[in-house]
Amino acid sequence: MSLKNKIAHAHNRLKETEGAICAKCGSKNELTVDHIIPSSLLEFFGITRETSYNPKKHGHNLQLLCRACNSLKSNRVDWSDKRSLPILQSYLDKLHEDLSDKDEEHNNRI
Ligand SMILES: [Zn+2]
Repeated sequence: MSLKNKIAHAHNRLKETEGAICAKCGSKNELTVDHIIPSSLLEFFGITRETSYNPKKHGHNLQLLCRACNSLKSNRVDWSDKRSLPILQSYLDKLHEDLSDKDEEHNNRI
């Protein structure tokens, strides 16, 4: 699936689950898919832009924003959004888990 299709897929899914409405201002115009924790930051967790639109793995980090709200937010974290911190925490926890698994594998080998 191309990136464009992945975004379209995530877009449709969000419309179904959250409604076709901007999560910030409630507008119904020009809705775009936004990462609550921006994809530029997800790269630090080894998550590619392609993967970041996967609704199964990253649906909790996706929201619909109208174009105006999306360009205001840009690639920053909106800390006034109460979901931001728990989502960032979940990515940190996952990273920690993955690193512990690697440690265990390493210890099993030696
Ligand atoms: Zn808006």
